[in-house]
Amino acid sequence: MSGTVRELVAQSRPTWSFEFFPPRDEAAEAQLWTALRELERLRPSFVSVTYGAGGSTREGTVAVTERIAAETTMLPLAHLTAVDHSVAELRHVVSRLAAAGVRNLLALRGDPPGADPQAEWVAHPQGLRYAAELVALIKSMGDFSVGVAAFPERHPRSPDFDSDTDMFVAKCRAGADFAITQMFFRVEDYLRLRDRVTARGCDVPVIAGVMPVTSARQINRIVQLSGQAFPAGLAARFAELDGDTPEARKAVRAYGVEVATAMCQQLLDEGVPGIHFITMNRSTATREVYAALAGESVPVPASPSALSAPVR
Ligand code: FAD
Repeated sequence: MSGTVRELVAQSRPTWSFEFFPPRDEAAEAQLWTALRELERLRPSFVSVTYGAGGSTREGTVAVTERIAAETTMLPLAHLTAVDHSVAELRHVVSRLAAAGVRNLLALRGDPPGADPQAEWVAHPQGLRYAAELVALIKSMGDFSVGVAAFPERHPRSPDFDSDTDMFVAKCRAGADFAITQMFFRVEDYLRLRDRVTARGCDVPVIAGVMPVTSARQINRIVQLSGQAFPAGLAARFAELDGDTPEARKAVRAYGVEVATAMCQQLLDEGVPGIHFITMNRSTATREVYAALAGESVPVPASPSALSAPVR
C-alpha cells in the first residue's frame, strides 16, 4: 500500500489507525495476525508496529512491518527508538524498512530497557540522545513521513508543561510531519496540549492515542508503563465492576468500550485529526468502539484504499 501518513492527516477526514506490538512466540504471532486481518476489514488509514526494547522483538518489528507492507492492503507505520543503537545501526534499520517500501516512521527516543521506564536513560556511545535527532537523521536519509510522540500530561521526565511543550515543538521543527499522543483518559488533557502547541505557532497535527480498557487489572500496568495518571473516578468504577465471574469481566469490558467510545466521540467533535487505537494485539474492543461510533456519526476515515462506509 503506497501513500504517507503525512498526506492522510492533511485531509479533512480524521485518520483511524491501530497499533500492534511484535509477537514473542508463534502463538502470539497467530493472535497478532488474526487481529490484523480482522481490523483490516475496517480499512484503517494506517497500522503501526511498536519497536521492542531489544533483541528478537526488534527483528520482529521489522519483519511484521515488512509483511504488512507486502501481504496486506494496509499502510504500515514502523516505530523506531534510539535505545541501544548506534547511528550506523539506526541507518541500517531505516534502509531495510525503506527497501520493503515502508516510508512512514515514528521516531522515538525510547524508554530504558528493563521493567522500570523511569530508570536512567543512557545513550549509546555512537548513538543519539533525543527523538529530535532521530527525526533529523531519518529526514536526512530520504523522503520519509515521520511522526513523533506527544504527551497530554507531559512526558514523565519533563519538569513542567512549558519545557515539555518547548521540546515537543523542537522535535516538530526538526522535521516531524505528525504526532501521536500517549494514551490518555481525559479529553481536556489532549485539548490543553493542542492549545499549548498551537500557542507556539506549531501546526503539526496531533493524533489522539486511545486504549479501550478491557480489564481492571490493566489499569496499574497502564499507569506504570505510560507514566500518565488514570482518573480516580474511572478507576473506582472499574474496581466496582471487577470480579472473578464471567459476568463481572463482561461488565468491565463493556464499560471500557463505553468510556473509549464517549472519549472518541468528544475528540471527533473537537476536530481531532485522527484517532490511534492501542489494540494490545486484539481486535474485539477496538471493533466494538468503532461499531458504536459508526452507529452514531463516525466520519469515513482518511484511507489510502478506496473509501467506503465502515464495515461493521
Ligand atoms: P524525546 O522527545 O526525546 O523526549 C524525552 C524527554 O526528554 C522529554 O522529557 C523531553 O521533554 C526531553 N527532551 C527532549 N529534547 C530535549 C533536549 N534537547 N534537551 C533537554 N531535554 C529534552 N517506546 C518504545 O520503546 N517503543 C515504541 O514503539 C514506542 N512507541 C510509542 C508510541 C507513542 C505514540 C508514544 C507516545 C510513546 C511510545 N514509546 C515507545 C514510549 C517512548 O519511547 C517513551 O515515552 C520515551 O521515554 C520518550 O520518547 P520521546 O520520543 O518522546 O522522547
